[in-house]
Amino acid sequence: MATARFDHATRRFDTSSAPAVDSLDIDIADGEFLVLVGPSGCGKSTSLRMLAGLEPVDSGRVLIDDRDMQRVAPRDRDVAMVFQNYALYPTMTVAQNMGFALRNAGVNKTDIRRQVEEAARILQLEDLLDRKPSQLSGGQRQRVAMGRAIVRRPKVFCMDEPLSNLDAKLRVSTRGEIAGLQRRLGVTTVYVTHDQVEAMTMGTRVAVLDKGVLQQVAAPRELYDRPANAFVAGFIGTPAMNLVEVPVAGGRALVGDAKIDVPASLGGRDRIILGARPEALRLVGAGEPGLELTVDLVEELGAEAFAYGHSDAGDRVAIRLDRGHGTAVGERIRVRHIDAEVHAFDTETGDRID
Ligand code: ATP
Repeated sequence: MATARFDHATRRFDTSSAPAVDSLDIDIADGEFLVLVGPSGCGKSTSLRMLAGLEPVDSGRVLIDDRDMQRVAPRDRDVAMVFQNYALYPTMTVAQNMGFALRNAGVNKTDIRRQVEEAARILQLEDLLDRKPSQLSGGQRQRVAMGRAIVRRPKVFCMDEPLSNLDAKLRVSTRGEIAGLQRRLGVTTVYVTHDQVEAMTMGTRVAVLDKGVLQQVAAPRELYDRPANAFVAGFIGTPAMNLVEVPVAGGRALVGDAKIDVPASLGGRDRIILGARPEALRLVGAGEPGLELTVDLVEELGAEAFAYGHSDAGDRVAIRLDRGHGTAVGERIRVRHIDAEVHAFDTETGDRID
């Protein structure tokens, strides 16, 4: 069991450009499942690799159990890494693959067997222990890779996009398995993904990075309900939150011809970015105030549907529709925000205005 901490951890590959990871500060509690998420190149893998000792920390520190890892070699950090390309040894059986690290560490055969069997039971690999990797499905191989990490009983699991080689269906079931497994084992876990759905469904907390800078770290629900800035607002949620720059006057925002209460201390601002999720918009009739849109696309997902449209000013807006909505491409619709569910962001910084 262990805590982990990024303390102003910075990694700069190239002195002439911005750091890949810029002064990252996150405290990870014992047993926590922390997900690092963000677009490609935001620095999530580099952050994870600093913790695992595969990448140096140029300034700041990473700590495990309050101990500065600066001078601690990767193998002595007691961290188990699960990568996207979980190369299993093709000539070894599942059991041999899983026991490999223990054998290298000089653990005796009886203990190896016991630990491998225990991990196999947890991962439901008991019937596959004598197979070679080529005789396994992608999902089973991924479980063997997890098994290799588990048998070591590390202080911290570091997982870098471990599901990205799996097909969509298997990814969904395996993400549930990993999250469940992590809860049962209680091992502190740092998990990297670019997939915000994976992040939201697996993490006890989610850290959103952009261009090497931490944007927000919070429980999934809070990220969704109270994004700290327009970047997080637009990154978390599918379809993304609608973000429209609008004028404000008298404490109300003008969207089309609708006046929307803004839940914010506006200071002297006369424009803000107004945010509303697709489910926080509703269709209104021709006579009611709202924003007029031309529908560009209707997406039927079965249980729900989304319409994507644009306003005359060129703002793109998505709205969730009820079943049996009857909305068609090319149609003109009017939408309005549900007042209680709007977010306001600064037009310059993108920061949330409360
Ligand atoms: P992805 O989702 O695409 O894997 P990421 O968020 O994990 O991206 P990193 O791999 O951490 O991003 O990379 C962060 C930045 O650092 C990127 O701009 C990348 O080009 C740069 N970078 C990463 N590794 C190196 C390296 N070895 N040398 C130089 N630049 C690097």
